This record gives sequence, structure tokens and C-alpha cells, in this order.
Amino acid sequence: MGRLTTRVDESWFSHTSRAEAMAGGLALQWLGTAGFRLVSNDHHVWLDPHLSRHSLWQVATQQLAPNAARIDADVDQCHAICVGHSHFDHAIDTPFMAKAHNARVYGSESTLNLCRGHGVGESQLVRLDPGERHTEGPFSIRGVPSQHSTFAFGRVPAPGKILAPLDTPARAEKFRVGDVLGLHLSCDHGSVYHIGSADLIEAELTGVQADVVLCCTVGRYATENFTHRVLDALKPKLVIPCHWDQFWRSMDKSPRQIPGNDLGGFLAEVQSHPSRPEVRVLPQRGWTRLA
Ligand SMILES: [Zn+2]
Repeated sequence: MGRLTTRVDESWFSHTSRAEAMAGGLALQWLGTAGFRLVSNDHHVWLDPHLSRHSLWQVATQQLAPNAARIDADVDQCHAICVGHSHFDHAIDTPFMAKAHNARVYGSESTLNLCRGHGVGESQLVRLDPGERHTEGPFSIRGVPSQHSTFAFGRVPAPGKILAPLDTPARAEKFRVGDVLGLHLSCDHGSVYHIGSADLIEAELTGVQADVVLCCTVGRYATENFTHRVLDALKPKLVIPCHWDQFWRSMDKSPRQIPGNDLGGFLAEVQSHPSRPEVRVLPQRGWTRLA
């Protein structure tokens, strides 16, 4: 298999039951796209949750709104949400979840404007400014300046910022990228770094280390030597790929890769790095124990 196939080799997958994952100090669930749930001490923090999964037809032709039934089916507990950039496939569900669960939201001003548009209270909104750390339950959270891959014919799609409160329904292009942040979360049991788009700024990662990197794979061919640069900079022991699945396809169907993603190629890139970190490919909704 190579770059041209969208097939997924099920032998890549490794995961455990939710109960097994939760038996340790730090559990992780992947929910498609760049969406994860991180749990420690019964505290549930979501990263770039995207459960609505509109069809490509809807994305191209319609205004988009969160799909409450799909969100509620997967989101049972939510204390906080961290968002790395405000494209719809990373941010559209966040305001709905924040309101439904009275959860705090950590993100750029653009992400916070999405929440304001949906009527989320200011007391729930935390802007991730460079260098600032925030305590959220057992976690310490910070946003690290990063950049979005220029995969769309050399450009970032929907560039710019969301400068005023924006409510849904809204067209996909209204979800401007905003500031792009790597999400660094640490707790007593370890540290995790979330890369929601396949690019990085090494100068911002000086002194940043992560035991686990949650790594976007799509669009990485637009960023020279992306995979090895991530491993050089963050020195993880474990890599979990994300944003490889067709996020316009229901999670109730078997997953397919985004055309050109080449997850097999990504696994080979990680394995060819001298540090040889472990890689775990989670199935959609799959859990794993990080510590
Ligand atoms: Zn994006």
C-alpha cells in the first residue's frame, strides 16, 4: 500500500478497553480527525473534538452546525476542551460541548469568538497566550505557537482570524484558522503534545519535551521532513497518529484514509528515526493507556 490507497490495514490497530485504559494514571481515546479525550484522575479533557462529521456535500454546499446527536453519543463527560486552531474540523463542536457540559475552553481568540457566538460565558473561556500555563484539574496546559501546513496548493485554507463572535450555522470558510497552537498537557503521570496540523516551529519548541505526541499526518508532505523534525524536537517515547481518516465519513463505518495521506508511509517514517519511538494506531473511538 502506498500514497494512492485510502484503505486502512486493520493489523495496524492497537487498543484496549476503556476500563483497561482507565486503570492507570493517564488514559487516551481517539475520536477521529484530530480529536482526542485525555483522562487523568477522572478529569476528562478533550482536544480538537470533532464528532459532527458533515458529509463533503454538506461542507461544500451548506451552512454547518454541530450535530447534537453525534456529539452526545460520544461525549459523556467533559470538563475542559483545548483547541489548536479554529478550522471547522477542529472547532465546530467545541461551543456546543462547552455549553452542554459547562466545560472550560482553552484556545485562540478565534476559537473563543466561536464560543462567544454560541453564548458560552466568559468565565468558561481561557485564551492560550504564548508562555502561559494554566491548571485544569490534574493537568497543566499551555499553547505553543505553531503553524498550519500549506497543503492546499501551497496555501493554508480559510486563512485569517475570526474577529467577532460567530455562531452556527455557518459556512466552512467562516471558520478561519486563527492562531495555530500545539497543545502541551502534562500531569504527574506524563506529558502529551498535540499537533493538529502537520507543521511546527522548532524555535518555539526549545525546552519542550513530550512523552507522547499526538501527530496529524495529513498534509505532511507540504512540510519538509515533517515527521523526523517532530521526533527531533519533542523526543517522544510514543507516537499516536491522527487526522488520517476521512472526517466526512461516519465513524459507524469502517475508516478510510484521506486520499494521499499514506499512514503506512508515516509509520515507516517514525520507525526510520534513530530514536525509534513506539507507534500506536488507534481505531476510531479506540482507547489506550498512556501511564
Ligand atoms: Zn486545519
